[in-house]
Amino acid sequence: MIKLFEEDSYLQEFESQIISIDNTNNLIELEKTAFYGKGGGQPGDVGTLTTELETVEVIETIKKEDTLLHQVKSINNLKIGTLIKGKINWNKRYQLMRMHTALHLLCAVVPLGVTGGQIGNLKSRLDFNADANSINKEKIQEKLNQILKNDHRIIYEWIESEELEKKPELVRTMSVKPPKTNGKIRLVKIGDIDLQPCGGTHVKKTSEIGSIIIGKIENKGKMNRRINISLSD
Ligand SMILES: [Zn+2]
Repeated sequence: MIKLFEEDSYLQEFESQIISIDNTNNLIELEKTAFYGKGGGQPGDVGTLTTELETVEVIETIKKEDTLLHQVKSINNLKIGTLIKGKINWNKRYQLMRMHTALHLLCAVVPLGVTGGQIGNLKSRLDFNADANSINKEKIQEKLNQILKNDHRIIYEWIESEELEKKPELVRTMSVKPPKTNGKIRLVKIGDIDLQPCGGTHVKKTSEIGSIIIGKIENKGKMNRRINISLSD
C-alpha cells in the first residue's frame, strides 16, 4: 500500500486499483491511496471511489497494521482488480490539515510531554503532562501570535527508525509511536520552531492556518492539562 498523502498532502484525486475486499465489513484495500487513515488523533478521510460503472461513498478510512482500509457504504460491483478514481472530501481534509499543523505549533510553545490529543474540524486539543502552574493561557496565546507573524515553511525529512531511537527527545507524544514506512520514519519540520516525527497531513506554510485561538484549559487530573484550540475561520 503506497500512502500518496505522505509525499503530497494536497493530492485530492488519484487513480488506483483494488487489491483486496472484505465483503463482511465493506472494506476496500487499494494499491495506493490519498485517503488518510484514522490515527494519531486525526480522523480518517471520507470521499468517493468511482469506476466505469458507478460511484461508491467512502465513509471512513482506517489503519490496519501496515495498510489502510477504505470503508464504503456498499460494495456494489467492486471487485479485486477494478480500476478506480479516488476523490477525497477536500474541504474536510484541508481543515484538518490546518488544525493538525496548528497543534504542532501549540506543542512548540508548550515544552511539555503530550499525553493525548484529538483533531476536529472546529475544535482540536492536546493534553499535556502538566500541573496547574506550568500552563499560562495568555502567554501561550502571545507566543503563538508571535510565531504566526512570520510565514514558516513545513518540510519533511526521512530518517531510519534506529536513528530516531538515538534521539528520543524528538518524540513529543508519549503514548503514540510514529508510523514507519519501509523502516523509515518521517520527521516534520516547521521552520526552526518544531521538529518531530509525524505521519499526519500538514499544510505547506503556517500562513495557511490563519489565527489560532486558545480556548478552554481543562483540568484533567493532577498532571494533565487539556488545551483546546480553534481557528479564526
Ligand atoms: Zn503532524
